[in-house]
Amino acid sequence: MIPESAEQPQPAAWQHELRRAYTDGAQLLRALGLAAGRSGLDPEPPDFPLRVPRGFVNRMRAGDRDDPLLLQVLPLAAERASAAGYCRDPVGDSEAEVVPGLLHKYCGRVLLVVTGSCAIHCRYCFRRHFPYARSNPARDHWQAALSYIRADPSLREVILSGGDPLSLSDTRLASLSEALAAIPHVRRLRIHSRIPIVLPERVDQHLLQWLRRCRMQKVMVVHANHPREIDAGVVAALQRLRDAGVTLLNQSVLLHAVNDALATLVELSEVLMSAGVLPYYLHQLDPVQGAAHFQVAPETAAQLLDGLRRRLPGYLVPRLVVERRGEAYKLPLELVYT
Ligand SMILES: *Cc1c(COP(=O)(O)O)cnc(C)c1O
Ligand code: SF4
Repeated sequence: MIPESAEQPQPAAWQHELRRAYTDGAQLLRALGLAAGRSGLDPEPPDFPLRVPRGFVNRMRAGDRDDPLLLQVLPLAAERASAAGYCRDPVGDSEAEVVPGLLHKYCGRVLLVVTGSCAIHCRYCFRRHFPYARSNPARDHWQAALSYIRADPSLREVILSGGDPLSLSDTRLASLSEALAAIPHVRRLRIHSRIPIVLPERVDQHLLQWLRRCRMQKVMVVHANHPREIDAGVVAALQRLRDAGVTLLNQSVLLHAVNDALATLVELSEVLMSAGVLPYYLHQLDPVQGAAHFQVAPETAAQLLDGLRRRLPGYLVPRLVVERRGEAYKLPLELVYT
């Protein structure tokens, strides 16, 4: 494999942006005009450091310690507390791992964890403890995963996930998707990425060229939780993706103090629709260790869903789901709590 540095001698603009991301909590708070003292900040979170691109920070409100974008990324001392029922692998990923990095949990589709890196570190992330170093499918250039997919003709769709698959170079994405496109029964390539939202610069001509060339149907599931995450730069990036023939969906996580208000969720659906993105999933938080302070009670979640149904056309109401170990699909919340 060609080393990254030889592929792109000039780092692309997005790679430059990625390097300029904030990684220090005190520095981030200073940039927002906030004092670290009363913020609850954990200055050195043990295994999941702070990371947030500057463009995303620019969408936060200066001077507001409760800003819903800030709350998603600021490491808090509260994460160190252990909460009952919260664990490191809440959704049973390890049981579904058929070869390193390949999860086959649901019929007809597999999920390939192509990288552990992300442009942003979301404190509620359910894969924050995923053993990326051990489950690295790229170690053999994805050969084991590709063989598995090739051998199962029932697989119609491959989902690239992570981490964030768009943190891979265009060269690596292209070589992986060419190998997938050569498997006749794989019709769809789905990409789960938060990068078009947090680092829209990534959606550049090289990425678009790769997407346009790819013979498979392309679906991208982006990840925005709050309407203010979607600014003009993001809208333009989403438009470029659609022009390249990509079907766009959004998934969100229901998060206390971030988006657990009806007006916020209504606005999120509206803003997404204006940007050509349909709401897909609204996930009930997975009980991952360190994220208990984001939990929204199921009764509250059910009320919010009822409110959305009253206020919005059906296609703008996301499916409110819970992931349960061993189930054949992500369960609608009503099936779990009634
Ligand atoms: C969520 C998930 C999928 C995709 O499920 P859909 O309901 O098709 O969106 C596939 N594989 C795994 C392991 C998942 O967690
Ligand atoms: S971008 Fe996705 S995978 Fe990465 S930390 Fe955020 S939620 Fe987790």
